[in-house]
Amino acid sequence: MAGVIKLVNVNMSFRGRPVLHDINLEIAKGEIMVIIGPSGSGKSTLLRLIIGLLKPTGGEIWVKGQEISRAGEEEMNKLRRHMGMVFQYSALFDSMTVGENVAFGLRQHTDLSEEEITRVVRRRLRMVGLAGQENVMPSELSGGMKKRVSLARAMAINPEIVLYDEPTAGLDPIMSGTIDRMITSARRLFGVTSVVVTHHMSSAFNIADRIAMIYGGRIVEIGTVDEIRQSENPIVQQFIHGYKS
Ligand code: ADP
Ligand code: MG
Repeated sequence: MAGVIKLVNVNMSFRGRPVLHDINLEIAKGEIMVIIGPSGSGKSTLLRLIIGLLKPTGGEIWVKGQEISRAGEEEMNKLRRHMGMVFQYSALFDSMTVGENVAFGLRQHTDLSEEEITRVVRRRLRMVGLAGQENVMPSELSGGMKKRVSLARAMAINPEIVLYDEPTAGLDPIMSGTIDRMITSARRLFGVTSVVVTHHMSSAFNIADRIAMIYGGRIVEIGTVDEIRQSENPIVQQFIHGYKS
């Protein structure tokens, strides 16, 4: 089966400095692909490439059968209707209420009525444990709460593909568990494909179909949870034991 996401020999440099080297990665529809690796190894860059916020300096990125690295803005907008991203630093619109933040994608990409938008927003906020917080401003929220709003916003449009950049960082174990369950139930109920960057190895082992370890801009290991646990690569062993949580 052809992957819903496919990277072929992808290279990425910033001002001539290489950050990702020859990335080859194919992710199947409905798969939960977890990306691990130390800070600065290129994980966030990889997600930004997949959602088309960055263009690779080399190689090809295919999403839903379309080569996005050379797609125009119009084609990208169509694809983004099917994609959500939870950014590492939440990236909420500070001048908008929580409710308006969650409604943003619905206004951009759907023609739901105001009533329907209100209903979807209410449901999504309830899902992340923030029922009734529609009128609060992001500046009044803790980091963890912002993250949850960001999650509600990404899920509002019922995306087919969701990219999560450290969705459970800074959250307590109960909220982390809730988010892990959201990721797995989105797949079970709607066949959602997820790419999840995380530092929480327990969560990675719980939710992943496959785990890819990035180190120095390269995928140094990729496999099922069991394969990663049993990997003989010392970099992998050191990482998974050093990041127990
Ligand atoms: P990770 O998410 O694994 O911590 P990143 O993808 O954020 O890693 O960053 C990988 C490397 O690329 C880092 O050295 C970082 O400083 C650099 N980098 C990321 N984004 C930019 C950018 N927009 N401009 C220049 N360098 C960047
Ligand atoms: Mg990052």
